[in-house]
Amino acid sequence: MNAHQIAQVSSQLPSALPRLDWITDAQRLQRLSQDFSWFSPVLKQALQGKYGDVAVRPRTEGEIASVVAHCARQGLPITVRGSGTGNYGQSTPLHGGVILDLSAYNQLCWVHGAVGRAQTGMRLWDLDRQARAQGQELRWLPSTYRSATLGGLFGGGFGGAGSITYGPLAAPGNVLAARVMTVEAEPRVLELRGPDAMRLHHTYGTTGIVLELEVALAPATPWLECIATFEGFDAALAFAQQLGQAPGIAKKELALMAAPIPAYFTGLAAYLPEGCHAVMALVAPEAEETMHCWLAQHGGTLRYCVRDQWAADKPVGGHKSLIEYCWNHTTLHALKVDKGLTYLQTGYQPARFAEQLHALRSALSDEVLFHLEFLRNRDGLFSCSGVELVRFTSEQRLNAIMDIYRQHGVLVHNPHVYVVEDGKGNNQLDPGLLQAKAMLDPLNLLNPGKLRKAGLPACVQQA
Ligand SMILES: Cc1cc2nc3c(=O)[nH]c(=O)nc-3n(C[C@H](O)[C@H](O)[C@H](O)COP(=O)(O)OP(=O)(O)OC[C@H]3O[C@@H](n4cnc5c(N)ncnc54)[C@H](O)[C@@H]3O)c2cc1C
Repeated sequence: MNAHQIAQVSSQLPSALPRLDWITDAQRLQRLSQDFSWFSPVLKQALQGKYGDVAVRPRTEGEIASVVAHCARQGLPITVRGSGTGNYGQSTPLHGGVILDLSAYNQLCWVHGAVGRAQTGMRLWDLDRQARAQGQELRWLPSTYRSATLGGLFGGGFGGAGSITYGPLAAPGNVLAARVMTVEAEPRVLELRGPDAMRLHHTYGTTGIVLELEVALAPATPWLECIATFEGFDAALAFAQQLGQAPGIAKKELALMAAPIPAYFTGLAAYLPEGCHAVMALVAPEAEETMHCWLAQHGGTLRYCVRDQWAADKPVGGHKSLIEYCWNHTTLHALKVDKGLTYLQTGYQPARFAEQLHALRSALSDEVLFHLEFLRNRDGLFSCSGVELVRFTSEQRLNAIMDIYRQHGVLVHNPHVYVVEDGKGNNQLDPGLLQAKAMLDPLNLLNPGKLRKAGLPACVQQA
C-alpha cells in the first residue's frame, strides 16, 4: 500500500466499527499526531507533515481488540497514544494509519497495600490521588504528571520526581507486571511479569499494546516543597549533594538550576533573586531543621518552604507543585521566554559528576545552561542527570556539543532523534526486546519506523 491507500483503508474503519469514538477531523488529527518534539528544532523539521489518517478513543478492552483486529487484517499501522506529552515524536505516526488514543481507557483496577494496578490511559495525577486516598502514592511522577498517562510514562518516559529515591522506572521492583494485547487478526491478551514486562518499557509503543500496569507504590507523604538560592554554583552543588546523599532524609525531588536559568521562572520571580543559582527540593517535613542547618553551612538562603502544598491545591506561580518547574518543565518555562533555546538529556557518572560538571562548565558555559536532576541510577548509586539548556545555532554545533559531553565520559540520551536505538546513550537494545516484539506484534504494525532493528512492515515497504 502507498500512503494514499493506507489513508483510504484507514478512513473506512469508522463505518466498519460505528459504535466507537472516532476522530476524523483534520485539525484534531494533526493535534493528536503531535507531541512536544517541537522542543527540538531538529525534530520539528524532521516530523513536519507526519499525521495519522484516523484516530479512535476506545473505552474498553473489547473496543481496543476490535480496532486492533481490523488493523491486523488490513495491515494498517497503529500508533498508540496516551496524552501526547512525549518529547521525541514518540506518538507521531511516520506512516499514517490509525492513532489508538488510550486516554479514555483510564480506570483504576485496584490498590492492595503498596501495590497498585490501573488501565494505561489513566492520568498519573488521578492515579496518585486515588492511591493517596489509601495512604500510598506513586513512586515517580514526570513533571507532566497532571496530563501524562501511566502507559505513556511506561512507553516513552524515564522517571522524574521520585527517581531520587526509587531510581528510574526501569529499576527492578518499580514496575511489577503488564497486561498486553497482541496485534493479530485474533488479538490475544497476555500477562507479562517482572523482566518480561520491562522489555516493553521505553520502546515508544513499538513492541506491544499495554493495557494495564501493576506498579509498586510508596507511603503517601505531605512533602515540604522548598526553594533555596545560592550566590555560587559550587555551594549550590555541595548543598544538593549533601541533601541528595543523606540516607535519613526522605526525598521526592532534588534539582539544581544554575544561573541564569532561575530568571526564566517568571511565576517564581518573588523567590529568586537576580543572578542566583537555585536548588528545588521536595523533602519529608521532619527534614526542615536539618535543611536550615546545612543551608547555613553552605551560605544558602531558604526562599520558599510550604508543606503539603499539593494536597492543599495552593498554586505556586500558577502550578500545583514545584515539580512543575523541574525536569523538562524547566525547558518549557525557558522556551516561553527565549525561543532560541533547545536542550540536552545527559547522564553523569556517580563517582565523577562534580568533576565532569566542572570541566563542562569551563568548556561550554557560554552556550550551555546547567540544569541538573539528582537521582539514584538503576543500581541505586547517587548521581545526577542533566536536562541542560542549549543556545541553538545549528544542528552541526548541537551534535558537536553532544560529542564534547561524550568526550568527558557523560552519557548523552539524544533528545533530537525519534528512533528508539538512537535515543539510547549506549545504542544498545535489550535482545529480548525484539523477541517480545516478534511475539506481540508479528505483523510489525506498531509505530513503524521508530524501531530501526524491526525494519518496516510490508504495507509501508510497498509504499
Ligand atoms: C514539559 C515536559 C516535561 C516532561 N517531564 C518528564 C519527566 O519528568 N520524566 C519523564 O520520564 N518524562 C518527562 N516528559 C516526557 C513525557 O511527558 C512523559 O514521559 C509522559 O509520561 C508521557 O506520557 P503521555 O501519556 O503523554 O505519553 P505519550 O506521549 O502519549 O506516549 C509516549 C510513548 O508511549 C507510547 N505509549 C503510550 N501508551 C502506551 C500503551 N498503553 N502501550 C504501549 N505504548 C504506549 C506511545 O506510543 C509513545 O511512543 C516530559 C515532557 C514534557 C513536554
